[in-house]
Amino acid sequence: MRILVVEDEVALREALKRDLAGAGFTVDLAADGEEGLYAGREFPVDLAIVDLGLPKVPGLDLIRTLRSERKTFPILVLTARDRWQDKVAGLDAGADDYVAKPFRFEEVLARVQALLRRAGGWASPVLSCGPVVLDLRSQTVAVQGEAVDLTTFEYRLLEHLMMRAGDVISKAELTERLYEQDFERDSNTIEVFMGRLRRKLDPDDRLQPIETLRGRGYRFSLPRDPH
Ligand code: CA
Repeated sequence: MRILVVEDEVALREALKRDLAGAGFTVDLAADGEEGLYAGREFPVDLAIVDLGLPKVPGLDLIRTLRSERKTFPILVLTARDRWQDKVAGLDAGADDYVAKPFRFEEVLARVQALLRRAGGWASPVLSCGPVVLDLRSQTVAVQGEAVDLTTFEYRLLEHLMMRAGDVISKAELTERLYEQDFERDSNTIEVFMGRLRRKLDPDDRLQPIETLRGRGYRFSLPRDPH
């Protein structure tokens, strides 16, 4: 999943990038509201973290503008401690949740994960589709109760597919959301990883959890368990 961080304090911005990347996210950075607006319009953003006090374009205006342009990705705002008016204003402008500064990264991560799974229609952090179960908190996967050992990239690929189980996701979209902007993009590598992921999840080729739709992309096709 790809996260846009709009924050003018360089130390905080870099710390968020490092910690979010460490948690398996692809991260884009913007240092002011103008850069944030550009990135929010042009990049394939799954979620944005927006500081309210920003140079050039204030955070509230940035959020209102993106929402008025029908950008629907979840937005988490960063507010100053004890400024309840900022929290209310952020939510009114179209943000989905807030974290007050100073914060612990664990709090940001928990809120980011909750917003992403709710955007994908999941109520619980355990994504369960029949025999395949992915736990967002421990970043583990089990098939028919047996743990499956995935590399970081395989896990991220599966997480993206399962978060939107039932939707067709194009190879281009997967490439954009799983690689950094400046990464040497090659959609053939997605095919290679997809092949490995399928063999690990389904060595006997019986469950067939991931469908290939020729020319359109991939779909995690096992039905979601009711929750
Ligand atoms: Ca600021």
